[in-house]
This record gives sequence, C-alpha cells and structure tokens, in this order.
Amino acid sequence: KDFDSHVSHELKAPLASMRETIQLMLDQVPGPLTDKQKRLLELNLQSEYRLTSMVRNLLDLSRIEAGVMEYEMRGQDLVPLVRNAIAEIEVQAGEKQIQLLTAFPEGPVMVECDASRIVQVIVNLAGNAVKFSPKRGTVHVHVEAARSLPPGVPRRWRPLPGAVAKDGCFGLVTVSDLGPGIPDSEKEKVFDRFHQVKRDKKIAGQGVGLGLAISRTIVEAHRGAIWVEDNPGGGCRFFLLLRPGEVRDDERTYTAV
Ligand code: ADP
Repeated sequence: KDFDSHVSHELKAPLASMRETIQLMLDQVPGPLTDKQKRLLELNLQSEYRLTSMVRNLLDLSRIEAGVMEYEMRGQDLVPLVRNAIAEIEVQAGEKQIQLLTAFPEGPVMVECDASRIVQVIVNLAGNAVKFSPKRGTVHVHVEAARSLPPGVPRRWRPLPGAVAKDGCFGLVTVSDLGPGIPDSEKEKVFDRFHQVKRDKKIAGQGVGLGLAISRTIVEAHRGAIWVEDNPGGGCRFFLLLRPGEVRDDERTYTAV
C-alpha cells in the first residue's frame, strides 16, 4: 500500500499535469499552433497515454501481488460499461482510421461486477484490437445475454461461472479484429504476465504484456471467463463472460444474484 501511494504521488500526478498542459496547448489557449507543432504535441499526448497506462498496469500488478486488489461488486447493466470503454479508445481508433462497429441488445444485460474494473478489461481488449489491426481496419464489439455457457469456453474456466439461475443470463462481450491473430499454441499464454507473441516487426504502441494478465486476474475475481478464439474472417476474437446480476424489487437497486 505504501508503494501504491508513493507511485501514485510521484508518477501519476506529474503525468496528469503533463497531460493537462499538452491539452491546453492543443486547444491553443496560450496561442495558435502550426500544423507541425500540433502533430508533435499529439504524438506527445499519445506517449503520455501509453506511459500512464503502463504505470496503471504496474500498480495493479503490485496490488495483485500484495493481495490488496479491491472490488466493489454490484449488479450492473453491461451495455453502458461497454459504451464507456469504447469512448475511451475512440481517439486511438481515429488515429488509425479504424471503424469501431458495435451491436447491443435492446434491453439491459445485468451482470455482477465491479464497473470500473470491467471497463478496464474491455478497454484492454478493444485497445489491443485497435493496436493490432491494420490501418483503416474494422473492430467489432458485441454485447449479448447468453442463456448458457458458450461452446468455446476453455475447460479451465468452466467451473468458475457455473450454471445460470433459472431466468438469469450471462453477459457476453466479444471483441473481434482483422489483425495478425494469435496462434493456437499461444492462445492461453497471452494471458500470462509479460508474454507477447513474437512477430517480425514491432507493433506501434505495444506495451509490456501485462494488460491481459491483469484482465485475467480481474475476471477470475468475478468468477467469469476470458478467452480468445480465431475470428472466422481472420484475426482474433476475444470473449468476456460475466455472471448474471439482478434488480432487487424492494429498493430498485441492483444486487448480485
Ligand atoms: P501488450 O499488448 O501491452 O503487449 P497484453 O497483455 O494486452 O499486453 O497482450 C499480450 C500479447 O497478446 C500482445 O503483446 C500480443 O502479442 C497478443 N495480443 C493481444 N491482443 C491481440 C490481438 N487483438 N491481436 C493479436 N495479438 C494480440
């Protein structure tokens, strides 16, 4: 916890102030910018985002190792959480002219989760899909309510979500891309710490291989499931499955099943 507050103070605060300064300049508050200056500042801002996300991942890793990762579980509608996550990666997608296509069911999809941690997992999956997609590619994000466990859930995950209550449904998010895909031999390993698939050339914006490992820990704490399959059209498709949550009639607040 000491490490946590130290890092937060010494690294996160100056990073946030750098971000604000760059943003002020990009908004041309101190004065007008040439196109070249604007481009350089945009690159600077992207590096700041990457650094912030790396610091966040390292902090999470230290929390996991110290066993002090905390979750606030509540019944939540998955749809707005996915919308929030997509809003977070829109700039990154725009930079590569990637189209983010979404499909949501009409009604809510109630799940039991810690909202901000689940947004973090979806940002990780959708951010990776954008990162590994070719320029001008397409990334699909779908949300659905599943009555039973989907057929592809790997064996290691099957006992965690268990069976659904009579009238409950699992929440299922799928993120598909048309990138290089992940070979079968690495489909489990990519969820290990620091594991990255070796490729001929370095992918711009690649981190240190912590995002999926943290996502897996978060999903385990939710007794859900996270896995990857080949996308039928090329590339890969990540799945996130969450247990159902429900609305309590007496208080109209959401509680977990
Ligand atoms: P990072 O992306 O920072 O390296 P992650 O833990 O999020 O860390 O991902 C680990 C590795 O899994 C990536 O380095 C990459 O090799 C592989 N990977 C993840 N998502 C995708 C994807 N959508 N397409 C291809 N490879 C992926």
